Amino acid sequence: MAGIVVPRFELFIDGQWKAPIHGNRIPVIDPATEQIVGDIPAGTSEDVDVAVKAARAAFSRNKGQDWARAPGKVRAQYLRAISAKVLERKEELARLEALDCGKPVDEAAWDMDDVSGCFEYYADLAEALDDKNYATLEIPLDKFKSNVLKEPIGVVGLITPWNYPLLMAAWKVAPALAAGCTAILKPSELASVTCLKFASIMQDVGLPPGVFNVITGLGPTAGAPLASHPGVDKLAFTGSTSTGRMIMTAAAQNIKPISLELGGKSPIIIFDDVDVEKAVEWTMFGAFWTNGQICSATSRLLLQESIAPSFLKKLVEWTESIKVTHPLDKDCRLGPIVSEAQYKKVLKYISNAQAEGAKLLCGGKRPAHLERGYFVSATVLGNVTPSMQIWKEEVFGPVLSVTTFNTEEEALELANDSSYGLAGAVISKDTERCKRVSEALQVGIVWINCSQPVFVQAPWGGTKCSGFGRELGEWGLENYLSVKQVTRYISDDAWGWYPPPSKK
Ligand code: NAD
Repeated sequence: MAGIVVPRFELFIDGQWKAPIHGNRIPVIDPATEQIVGDIPAGTSEDVDVAVKAARAAFSRNKGQDWARAPGKVRAQYLRAISAKVLERKEELARLEALDCGKPVDEAAWDMDDVSGCFEYYADLAEALDDKNYATLEIPLDKFKSNVLKEPIGVVGLITPWNYPLLMAAWKVAPALAAGCTAILKPSELASVTCLKFASIMQDVGLPPGVFNVITGLGPTAGAPLASHPGVDKLAFTGSTSTGRMIMTAAAQNIKPISLELGGKSPIIIFDDVDVEKAVEWTMFGAFWTNGQICSATSRLLLQESIAPSFLKKLVEWTESIKVTHPLDKDCRLGPIVSEAQYKKVLKYISNAQAEGAKLLCGGKRPAHLERGYFVSATVLGNVTPSMQIWKEEVFGPVLSVTTFNTEEEALELANDSSYGLAGAVISKDTERCKRVSEALQVGIVWINCSQPVFVQAPWGGTKCSGFGRELGEWGLENYLSVKQVTRYISDDAWGWYPPPSKK
């Protein structure tokens, strides 16, 4: 794409750029043109070893006083500087993100605001940690005093996906650094450019060497060695459920704590009392934003039978009017799927659904005006039943499946009949009903009268095969803290459990 050059980066280890030991690189492909626009280093287990050593050294350098045991307010200054630099470079970062993963540049710019906001938020929490440490506990014996110390968990391995490349990294890096951990980030091989660019920000703000490291590369050859490395104290993973299983297995070998943010197949329930236009727009936003490649996409539409025909007519009209272009074009609202493999997978899901009896209401193929690129028009499939693959499995593309219901009870049964439990949305004017539904949904995130808004203050994560643990908010910081109790005996009296030996 004219005007954007993908910078050439090496791995970022110990505050320096280092070529991968085996010297291999992975092409960066613009999914909108299918052209190679750059490349990234392909790190391997040898590079992971070097990065883990650097992170361990940074954790304990100067007995931890330089980072891990420094006051939270010292680390907060770095986080604020990072936040400011991200804003300063927002336009460049957003354009690189759009080029690399195909999301509309307006969304990528929004992501960069969120990245910056995330570092600012965790800077506040890092400062607050100083006051919270050594909290005194209420205990029933006055001969003792018990305090709680919160300490950084150690060296953390952070493995992230391609749909929000820098934002998913920020959700982990910001709280990890706020807590005093040192980190090795392994972004997705499909979109690593902004994470490498972000490493240059770490250099610019003078972050101590080794506190933050980036190893790019393939999952099996760079991610797996990080997940199984005995020098890593905790793993935080966002990605597919199948990779999550492998991460969990690897972590189990070293009894390593993990947090897992995995896939989803989230429902959006629409009752017949809604304002149809507003509900249609939220339905589209929930299914097609970020090209439908969102873990929390509300990609199962449950529509109350009585409004189904009129609602679907409007939904199809609006969906067909979505602007599909190169993600760097002005006002693009739907870009390409991230890669050729994913593009083929999405099309296969659509054809399988039709073969199983689903009705294609719109989309389902490459838009006529785009000859190249991994574009799939926003797709709505009607007549979907709960036994169909398209209803059960995560597509990770702009595909919405629709079914209908008559009663609230029936809607909840359909919504909860899923192996996933990440998010759910309900749209209705009846506030009591919305409350009932939000309590009954077996998920970690509920949206009422909207879909997808995310706030750094609110916990993020799922249940069932969508994973466990929560990111963001204070829960996000706790992920990177280890809790230690310090109990003192403060009485002048002897303990007196064993009588003194009798004198002979
Ligand atoms: P993925 O599982 O293919 O890859 C995620 C990361 O894991 C990548 O960095 C990849 O290189 C790495 N990886 C792959 N194999 C590995 C292995 N054997 N060991 C260690 N690391 C390995 O996922 P993806 O395709 O990049 O992302 C899409 C998935 O992410 C979807 O399922 C989506 O729902 C999920 N996701 C979840 C959330 C959430 O918050 N719950 C957010 C974004 C994306």
